[in-house]
Amino acid sequence: MPVPVLERAAAEMLDWQGTGMSIMENSHRDKKVVAMAEETQAVLLELLGLGSEWKVLFCQGGASLQFAMIPLNFAVGEVADYIDTGMWSTKAYQEAEIVGAKPHLAASSKADDFTYIPREYKYSEKPRYVYLTSNNTVRGTQWPSFPQDAPAPLIADMSSEFLSRPLDLSKFALVHAGAQKNVGPAGLTIVLIRPDFAETARKNVPHMLDYRTYIEHDSMFNTPPVFAIYVAGLVFKWLRDEIGGLAKIQKLNQAKAEYLYNAIDQSGGFYRGTARVDSRSPMNVTFRLANPDLEKTFLDEAKKANMAGLNGHRSVGGMRASIYNAVDFQAVKTLVDFMAEFQKKRG
Ligand SMILES: *Cc1c(COP(=O)(O)O)cnc(C)c1O
Repeated sequence: MPVPVLERAAAEMLDWQGTGMSIMENSHRDKKVVAMAEETQAVLLELLGLGSEWKVLFCQGGASLQFAMIPLNFAVGEVADYIDTGMWSTKAYQEAEIVGAKPHLAASSKADDFTYIPREYKYSEKPRYVYLTSNNTVRGTQWPSFPQDAPAPLIADMSSEFLSRPLDLSKFALVHAGAQKNVGPAGLTIVLIRPDFAETARKNVPHMLDYRTYIEHDSMFNTPPVFAIYVAGLVFKWLRDEIGGLAKIQKLNQAKAEYLYNAIDQSGGFYRGTARVDSRSPMNVTFRLANPDLEKTFLDEAKKANMAGLNGHRSVGGMRASIYNAVDFQAVKTLVDFMAEFQKKRG
C-alpha cells in the first residue's frame, strides 16, 4: 500500500467527511457513501482512459469466484477457449468444467513449466470468449501484448498487474482483478465489463452471480465492501494525482524490474531467473540460486535484514520479489544490494 494512502485512511478513521464516524459506520445507502463509490468508479475509468462503453463493478469472492462466474454467465453448455499459463488459469479452466461449460485449451506452456507466454493459439471454431491470465503471479510471466486475432472477445484475470501499466482493452469484454495485489485491501474484486456483453449472458443465473445485477444496482444490490472500495478509491487518486497516471507508473515499474533482472542476469549464474526473457513479468520477479541448498539461508538472512515475502509461491519454491506499484525503487535497490552482499559471502 502507498504510505500516503495509509496515512489518509488513518487520518479519516474517526471522522470521515465530517460525519463524526468512520466510513465503516456509515450506511452504504448514505448519500456520501454512494457518491464516494460513484467517484471511485469514475476515477478508475479516467485512469484507464475508458468511456461509458465500460462499467466498473465492485464484487466479492476474489478472482476465484470470477473463475466460476464467467463461465456460469456466458458458457454453460457452450465452448469457451482458455490459454493456460499457470496455476490461476488452470483453476479458471477447471471451474469452467465444474459449472458445465466446455472449456477448450487454445494454448498452454505447461510442458515447459509455464516459463513463457505462448504466442500461437489453436482456437475453437466459435468460442464464447477467450480467457487468459495477463500476469502469472506464481511463475513470474506477463503478456507483453494481447492476441489481436481471437475469434471472440477476450476476458482476463489481471489480479497481479491491475493498474501497473496502460492497457489497450479494445479486444476485451471483461477484466477482473482482486484488489489485494496492486490496488488495496482484500475483500474487493474489481470487474470491468462491457454492458453489451453482459446482456448476452444466459438467464436464470442467481442474482449475486449475475453480472447484470451489479450493473443494474450499481454494485449496491447487497452490502458492498465499503471500506475496501474507499481505500481503493484513495489508491486510484494517488495514482492519478501523485504518480501522474498509468504511463508514469509503468515507467517506474519498468525501472524497478530492469534493475532487479539486470542484477540477476549479471550475477554470473549465481542467481537465475526462472521465466523466459521475452515473457518476464515486471511485477513478480521469480528467481533461483544455482545452489538450491543456499535458498533457505538466503531467505532467512533476507528476513533478518527486514525483507519479508521473498519466498516463491509454495507450489514452486525459490524466490519471488513482488514489486507492485507501491514498492519504490529504493526497496528494490535494498534487495539488489543484499543479493550482491550475499553472493560475495557465499559465491
Ligand atoms: C492472487 C491471484 C489470484 C487469487 O485469487 P483470489 O480468489 O482473489 O484470492 C487469482 N489470480 C491471480 C492472477 C492472482 O495473482
